[in-house]
Amino acid sequence: MEFLDWWYGLLGLSIPTAAIYILVTTHVTFIAITVYLHRFSAHRAMTMHPALQHVMRFWVWFTTGMGTKSWTAVHRKHHALTETEGDPHSPKVKGLWTILFKGVEAYRDAITPDTLEKYGKGTPDDWLENNIYDQDKLGVGMLLVIDLLLFGSVGLVVWGIQMIWVPFFAAGVINGVGHAIGYRNFECPDASKNIVPIAFFICGEELHNNHHTYPNSPKLSVKKWEFDLGWGYIKLFEFFGLCKPNKVGPVIEKDKTKSAIDFDTLRALANDRFAVMSKFANQVVSPVVSSLSSENGNSRKLLQKAKRAICRDPIVMDQKMSQYQEQLFKQFPVLAEIYRHKEELLKVWSKRTGRKEELLKAFGNWCEASEKIAERWRLEHLSKFVDELKSYSVPKLTSA
Ligand SMILES: [Zn+2]
Ligand SMILES: [Zn+2]
Repeated sequence: MEFLDWWYGLLGLSIPTAAIYILVTTHVTFIAITVYLHRFSAHRAMTMHPALQHVMRFWVWFTTGMGTKSWTAVHRKHHALTETEGDPHSPKVKGLWTILFKGVEAYRDAITPDTLEKYGKGTPDDWLENNIYDQDKLGVGMLLVIDLLLFGSVGLVVWGIQMIWVPFFAAGVINGVGHAIGYRNFECPDASKNIVPIAFFICGEELHNNHHTYPNSPKLSVKKWEFDLGWGYIKLFEFFGLCKPNKVGPVIEKDKTKSAIDFDTLRALANDRFAVMSKFANQVVSPVVSSLSSENGNSRKLLQKAKRAICRDPIVMDQKMSQYQEQLFKQFPVLAEIYRHKEELLKVWSKRTGRKEELLKAFGNWCEASEKIAERWRLEHLSKFVDELKSYSVPKLTSA
């Protein structure tokens, strides 16, 4: 009898108990990955109480074997070299199935002394990190012992699921699916997608397109109808004084009285450029496409994907889309003109690291060209859009 008691473990042989245990432990791991490793360590989107840092750092290592320095370095490299050969886990380069099922291998291969040195700055470099947390099998080995104690022989299955569950969702789904399937709020220059709008299963990491657009924002949801569970946890930790998030997304203001562009306009626009491009899609491209569609009943089908063909970043364009674009522009020259004009605006952003005066001149020229195009094609939406851009400003500092 005593032998059987041991065999069933301390919690007894209960499938529902084991299932709840797996869900809770893996969920806590997702919280630690998104809040501590990702938003705090890799992106510095918040400050965090040392006690909470230690608990999460331990938990990630204990349940997955991952060290903070390695994870942070590999992830920062992913942002620095997204969708290029140097990206540690791009499905565009390595294939979706490879990243989905071998995401952990890709992650491990990327941990090199060079990467740790270049991208691992500001991460823990103490005795624990260099002697304990660098041993990836020790933590998960301890977890196996605990699982066996709790569930007896079934503990081995429980442990097996834990070992597959987190890498599959955290490495495979986010890094693979998050760059392949879903919707895009912003045309940031990579293939990132929001997998689903209600992001609770992987604690907000599903909103990967928002994240690549505003990587230093502690909150990953942007639209009213999106939900980021990780942000909920951050607010909870903040309530208990355990963390302090930095500013959310880009900070801009609109000054309706302003009608000329200045350096403030440029700074605000550069901060919010992805949202500006998304507005261009909705406020300029969409109305033109709808009116063409109602005037040309026969071409309605051809115009169905026109907005996408004009606004998509070239990195997510395939050959089929390029052919479609060609056909579309041939039939509707106004759309070709809008497309070229959008590309010109993107070129203006690309000058943002150069001299401010040059950027101001380039943007001024773009606004002037907009007026001519608006007049030529009678595009009042374009004029309105440009007027709105001129009202952008950065918030003035107020003394406390
Ligand atoms: Zn990514
Ligand atoms: Zn990131």
